[in-house]
Amino acid sequence: MSQTADIPEQLIIERNALKKWKRTDVYNWVTEQTVVIISGAGKTCRVADRLAHDIQPDAGRVHVLKCRDNTLDTINALERQVLESSANIVIGVGGGKALDVAKVVGTRSNVPVVLVPTSVSNDAICSPVAVIRMNKKASLGVKMPQAVIIDLEVIASSPERLTIAGIGDLLSNKTAIFDWDLGCRAQQDTMNTFARLMANHAVDAFINTVGNRSFDKTTLVKVLAESLVMSGIAMSVAGSSRPCSGSEHLISHALDYYCGGKALHGEQVALGILVAEYLQDEHRSSGNVRQYYEQLGLPTHFGDLGYTREEMALAIRMAPAMRDRYTVLNEFSFNDRQIDQLLDDVFPTRTGKRVISFA
Ligand SMILES: [Zn+2]
Repeated sequence: MSQTADIPEQLIIERNALKKWKRTDVYNWVTEQTVVIISGAGKTCRVADRLAHDIQPDAGRVHVLKCRDNTLDTINALERQVLESSANIVIGVGGGKALDVAKVVGTRSNVPVVLVPTSVSNDAICSPVAVIRMNKKASLGVKMPQAVIIDLEVIASSPERLTIAGIGDLLSNKTAIFDWDLGCRAQQDTMNTFARLMANHAVDAFINTVGNRSFDKTTLVKVLAESLVMSGIAMSVAGSSRPCSGSEHLISHALDYYCGGKALHGEQVALGILVAEYLQDEHRSSGNVRQYYEQLGLPTHFGDLGYTREEMALAIRMAPAMRDRYTVLNEFSFNDRQIDQLLDDVFPTRTGKRVISFA
């Protein structure tokens, strides 16, 4: 019996990482190659230009390409440019989309990928999964990045909404692991104990930080980035997204598919967690994650993300059909009255303001 899991060879998570990276092995490696930097829009471009400026004096050729979206057309065009330039490293710089596109382009052209996240809005910052848009959003298996550089100053200066979404995506490990256990008990899945342990510890490390003592923004983004990286590696170890994706993700996918995908992935997952935790009968336990929602600015009502009661009901109904994955949703068949009751219980009131409260 043998199984291998890809993990990044180099992982840098620290303050001012981009000021110090010229003294690292990643820099020495990158500057020996022809490099294509795939950058997101907006402020991200400045980080991409700075990296190009750092590399240029020592490297042969550096090309900075802009990534407008995560559609197949964009991916095809960027892949063509990577092949035409004979690049042997792709660096992805940005939030979710640019990183996902860089991972897909790198995998398809068989070129190693370095990721430089400028926000931590989901666990794609170091995972073997990428989301792209075909007719609808689709998840693809991709190669793990060879190196990840996370500059905590850059992350801390990203919009708070993105950080809150990242927290939602991380907290989902709790409900996902519950569902995974359930799937194994129903003989619909197999457990990878090491991956389970990693995903669980990742979220516990974060909860211990925000739950037990005062914390500032840099501490929060550091533990969040580290925990999201650990979650990505747990998926690589498991060979699937199972440790970090259960019924809460199915609900988010249904919101995307049937209700227009009005919010960020991690925000929608946060709503899904509240439903999942309720169905798993964990909402009254001392370990429930809902208790952290207000402090961390997470949405507590579907209206916070622009969804109607009817849309939320539809997403919960359609969620089990989103993919073949056994979760707590398989153990219920809701009639209208039960869905109404669930919505009343899980989403009693709108809170409105969503910001992180630092102690
Ligand atoms: Zn996710």
